Amino acid sequence: MEKIQNFINGEFVPPYHQKYFNNINPSTGETYCEIPNSSSEDVEKAVEAAEKAFPYWSNLSDEERGNWLIKISDGIANRMDEFVQAESRDNGKLVKLAKRVDIPRAISNFRFYGTGIQHYASKSHHTVGVGINYTLRKPIGIVGCISPWNLPLYLFSWKIAPALATGNCVVAKPSEVTPYTAFLLGKVLKEINFPKGVLNIVHGYGKDAGSEIVRHPKITAISFTGGTETGKIISSIAAPMFKKLSLELGGKNPNIIFDDCDFDEMIKTTIHSSFSNQGEICLCGSRIFIQREIYEKFKNAFVEKTKNLKVSFPSDENANLGAIVSQPHYEKILSYIELAQQEGGTILAGGKTVTLEAPHDKGFYIEPTIIEGLSYDCRTNQEEIFGPVVTITPFDTEEEVLKMANSVKYGLSATIWTKDLQRAHRIANQVEAGIIWINSWLVRDLRTPFGGVKASGIGREGGWDALDFFTEPKNVFIPY
Ligand code: NDP
Repeated sequence: MEKIQNFINGEFVPPYHQKYFNNINPSTGETYCEIPNSSSEDVEKAVEAAEKAFPYWSNLSDEERGNWLIKISDGIANRMDEFVQAESRDNGKLVKLAKRVDIPRAISNFRFYGTGIQHYASKSHHTVGVGINYTLRKPIGIVGCISPWNLPLYLFSWKIAPALATGNCVVAKPSEVTPYTAFLLGKVLKEINFPKGVLNIVHGYGKDAGSEIVRHPKITAISFTGGTETGKIISSIAAPMFKKLSLELGGKNPNIIFDDCDFDEMIKTTIHSSFSNQGEICLCGSRIFIQREIYEKFKNAFVEKTKNLKVSFPSDENANLGAIVSQPHYEKILSYIELAQQEGGTILAGGKTVTLEAPHDKGFYIEPTIIEGLSYDCRTNQEEIFGPVVTITPFDTEEEVLKMANSVKYGLSATIWTKDLQRAHRIANQVEAGIIWINSWLVRDLRTPFGGVKASGIGREGGWDALDFFTEPKNVFIPY
C-alpha cells in the first residue's frame, strides 16, 4: 500500500513516530493509501526548516517570488490529469468537476498571486508642512495554513499562494480526509527545485498535527478554513498567544427567490447552488425561501429537476452528484435527514442512500434531498448540514424573508433572485452575509473580498485582503 509522506525542508520524509492511518476512497469505501500521523516532532522539524529558509525567501524581490509561484502553477498544469484523478479519488467529487473547477482554480491561485504580488504597493501619507508617513508591509515570518476537505487543493492553494507571495515561509496541513493533492504538490515543488524549507506540508489529524501548528510559538499567524467549532478551538489557543488569525468557517446560506425573477435561469442555477459537489461547498444555498405567489410552481419544477439528477461514481460522465466525502460525514447528513422528519418536515425528493454496483457498492452516496414544511428556526434550518440537503420555505414580504434569512448564527453568502433592481440592492444591503450573488451564484473574481460575518468567520481572503493579512504594516514617519 502506498504511504504518502510529509514534505519538509524540500524532502519527502516519513512521520517521526512512523505511524500512519488509512486514506479511504469514498466512492468505493476502500483504503487506497496511508497517511502520516504526524505529531509535534514533525511540526517542529517543519518550523526549523521554515525558520532557516525565511531570510533567503523574504529577501527575494517580489518578481523573483512571483516567478516561483508561476512555476508552481505551471508544474500543477503539467500534471493536470494526475491531480484531477487524485482529487476525485480522495474526495468522491465528480472527475469532470475536479477537471473544470478544482485543479484549474488551484493553478489560477498560484498564478494570480504570483503576478499580483508584483503589483502590490504600500501607502504613504503626506502631512502637509510636517512630513511624510510611509507604510512598509513586512512578511509575518512563519505562518500556518490549515484547510478542509471539500475543495482540497483549491482551498489549500488559496492560502499558501498569498502567504508565499508576501515572503512568508509556510507550515501547511491539508485535511486528513483529502491529503493526496497536497502530497502531489510536494512532487511539483521537488520537480521545479523550489527553495527548501519555504513550503512545508505536514499531514495528519487536526487534533494532533493541526493543533501543534496552531500552538507552535514560532508560527505567528494562522489562516484556517473549516468548521465553526474547529475555528472556536483554534481561536481559543491562538488568540491568547496574539497570533494573527484568518478564519473562514461554516455557512447556512439563504437563497431568496422573488416572484418576478427569471424563472428558468433561477431554477437552473438553484439546482447547482443546492447540489454541486454533493452540496459540500461552503457557498451552497441550503435554505431556499420562495415568494408565495410562485411557491407551487417553484416546488414542482425544482422537485422534478432534482429527481432527474443522477447520483453515480465520480468518473461517470453522466453523473450530477458523486460520493459523500467520508463515512462519518455521510452518517452526519443522514442523521439530519432523520432529524428533519422528526421536526415535522416532508421529504419531497431524495432522502435515501444510493447503492451502486460493485466496485462502488460500499461507497457513500446520498440522493439530492428537498424538504418542506419546517419552521425557519428549527435545528434543520439553523445548523450546517454540508450535504445534498435543502429546505424550501414560502414567504410573503421582504421583512419576513429577511427575518428568516438572518435568523441563523452564520453569515457567509446569500443569493437573491429578482428583476427589481432597487429591491435587489435593498435586500443585498440587509442580508447578514459577506458575499451576495444577485441573479447568479458562485461567479468568482479572485480580486474580491471573500469571507463571512458572524459565526462564518473573521477576516477576508482574496485580492489585496489576503496580501494584507500575510503582511504586517510598519509605519515610518520622516519630517520635512
Ligand atoms: P474541520 O473544521 O473539521 O477541519 C478543517 C481543517 O482543520 C482540517 O485540516 C482539520 O484536520 C483541521 N483541524 C481539525 N481540528 C483541528 C484543531 N483542533 N486544530 C487545528 N486544526 C484542526 O472542517 P472540515 O474539514 O470538516 O470542512 C468542512 C467545513 O469547512 C464546513 O463547516 C464548511 O462550511 C467549512 N468551509 C468553509 C469555507 C469558507 O470559505 N468559509 C470554505 C469551505 C469549507 P482533520 O481533517 O484532520 O480533522
